[in-house]
Amino acid sequence: MFEISAEYSFAAGHALRGYKGKCEHVHGHNYKICVTVAGEQLNALGLLMDFVDLRAALKALAERLDHRFLNDLPPFDQLNPSAENLAKYFWEGLEPEVRKQGLHVQSVTVWETDTTSATYHPSPQR
Ligand SMILES: [Zn+2]
Repeated sequence: MFEISAEYSFAAGHALRGYKGKCEHVHGHNYKICVTVAGEQLNALGLLMDFVDLRAALKALAERLDHRFLNDLPPFDQLNPSAENLAKYFWEGLEPEVRKQGLHVQSVTVWETDTTSATYHPSPQR
């Protein structure tokens, strides 16, 4: 099994609904997203997937959120814009692109600060 990873950063504001503490108030983060793609087979060039394609897919999703107030944007107008829900949002957005190449998104990690992150990966098939 091979894995490759790419990172992308963006800035956005949010407020956690129903949370008792500082994060219920409007504030911002410089989010860092790290996506890891996995697969068994390399292509003829010895690549799992071109980093250019992976970063382009990640950038397209992140640019929708960049310099915006996340609570105003679907699905975060309904779903709390936590790091956990952001990680799943990126996983769901990237998986169809990556699957076209016969690969899958192993995990997505969202860093809210240098020391705090949340990771989403689908549960193993039972
Ligand atoms: Zn926050």
